[in-house]
Amino acid sequence: MTSFFCACCGETHDSLPDIGFAKPEPYFDIPEAEREARVQLTSDTCIIDEEHYFIRGVLEIPVHQHEQSFGLGVWISQKKEHFYTYLENPDTAEIGPYFGWLCSRVPAFGDTYLLKTKAHFQGSTMRPSIELEPTDEPFAIAQREGISLERAWDIVHEYLPPITKS
Ligand SMILES: [Zn+2]
Repeated sequence: MTSFFCACCGETHDSLPDIGFAKPEPYFDIPEAEREARVQLTSDTCIIDEEHYFIRGVLEIPVHQHEQSFGLGVWISQKKEHFYTYLENPDTAEIGPYFGWLCSRVPAFGDTYLLKTKAHFQGSTMRPSIELEPTDEPFAIAQREGISLERAWDIVHEYLPPITKS
């Protein structure tokens, strides 16, 4: 394990944590009082109004000079039939890849909402791997070309509470 002195918070960090989103963005458009009736949410899937289907996957970004990539747990939309194919075959790599719109906002990479993606199913209880369409969007460039370890830690700090010394 490589430790990393972080100029951002002045701490020494061990391994880079993955960050993830617990809910797809459209969830937040549903008024709080209506969520229980309209949303079916698990840690891996979300259905809104029996009409909109989302799955959670992992979008990997290579980190320069670092063997471990930076994983972001993001949500993408799925067509109903693909959603159910995945639900019925959660542990196989024999399905897909399936198209989906990115339904997580990661401001560190510009406007990421509704970028085009493909979900690659990996089987053996791993979450699907999310591949961005290879465009000139900052998020797509980052996935293609990688980011520095400093940048990855900066992003982690945007999402995690400050690391305490305990
Ligand atoms: Zn830090």
